[in-house]
Amino acid sequence: MAGTVLVTGGTGYIAGELIKQLLAKGWNIHTTVRDKAKSEAGLFERFGQPGERLKVFQAELMSDDGWAQANAGCTHVAHVASPLSAQTPKDENDMIVPAREGTLRALRFAKAAGVTRFVQTSSIAAVAYGRGDMEYTVTESDWTDVSDPDTTPYAKSKTIAERAARDWVAAEGGDIEFVSVNPVLVLGPVDSADFSPSVQPVQMLLNGKVPRTPDIGFGVVDTRDVADLHVRCLETPGIAGERFIAAGKFMKMIDLANVLQSGLTPQEARKVPAKAMPGWMASLFMLVNSEFRSVKNELGRVRHSDASHAEKVLGWKTRSEEESVLDCARSLIDLGVVKV
Ligand code: NAP
Repeated sequence: MAGTVLVTGGTGYIAGELIKQLLAKGWNIHTTVRDKAKSEAGLFERFGQPGERLKVFQAELMSDDGWAQANAGCTHVAHVASPLSAQTPKDENDMIVPAREGTLRALRFAKAAGVTRFVQTSSIAAVAYGRGDMEYTVTESDWTDVSDPDTTPYAKSKTIAERAARDWVAAEGGDIEFVSVNPVLVLGPVDSADFSPSVQPVQMLLNGKVPRTPDIGFGVVDTRDVADLHVRCLETPGIAGERFIAAGKFMKMIDLANVLQSGLTPQEARKVPAKAMPGWMASLFMLVNSEFRSVKNELGRVRHSDASHAEKVLGWKTRSEEESVLDCARSLIDLGVVKV
């Protein structure tokens, strides 16, 4: 199956891998970027397919400009673009409003262009947060509680955007079939120094920014497998309304460090910490370190994510977490982002 698909946010980590896989499967791609003058040449260089196979359009999540042109001729949309930052914004609406408005804008223009399948890159952040338990497993039937004071602006933005999309499709979607993909922390190779904040835990361990590992962790999944799940969601009939968690195992920072220690050369892994922080030190470290402040509530928590639905319905699998972590690390070293 192939045709023309719009992938929003073509400069991004997940979108880039998705474009690569869709091109390989014969799809023609339209993609949106915020700054066409800055990004178009790089995208053509990366994918080598200017012309019919790859067209770049300038479109911002908060403006109507460019969206009609980007959607023209498309039957499918993968809406990947959304605000993502390692820093907590001063005003949570800086994340929530573009995430929600951008998703609704993408849906409205998709409907006007006659798009029939719309896949939203949601997140585990829309599934697993705002609960008191220290260890639990989530499935697609769970939703993040946005009223919980500990729910971060990012988790709110993804929850509110996915709920708004589902409500809009139910009320006004017409022939659009909506599906969401809900990944945990995405790792795997990066191919430019402008990478997603999600690879920061690996970067920090490699460059010695963390003296010992705090007791936090995350579910890990590979960007190549997240892109593959998007492709399956775009191509598989009969899955309208579905939600698919994309997840591998939950890993603590110390598990990431151990994988790096055993899979890289001693020189490459020389700054990777070998020991965990005591609890008191971790609390203090996360309070004073701005990059960790937004995940301070993760201390001691274990959030497992059940990805068996994607496996059963779509035949999806994710590779080993070790491969994702090591490929991520090697790409950061090869790009010179991390000096070893
Ligand atoms: P990324 O590399 O930072 O990509 C984000 C993309 O969104 C970029 O192309 C960015 O454009 C675009 N974007 C952000 N704000 C925008 C705006 N106001 N208008 C237009 N475009 C905007 O991050 P990623 O990891 O690939 O994330 C992609 C999607 O996956 C997001 O929806 C994210 O919530 C979701 N997700 C990511 C993870 C993860 O661990 N990485 C996990 C779960 C879900 P610029 O290049 O111009 O900034």
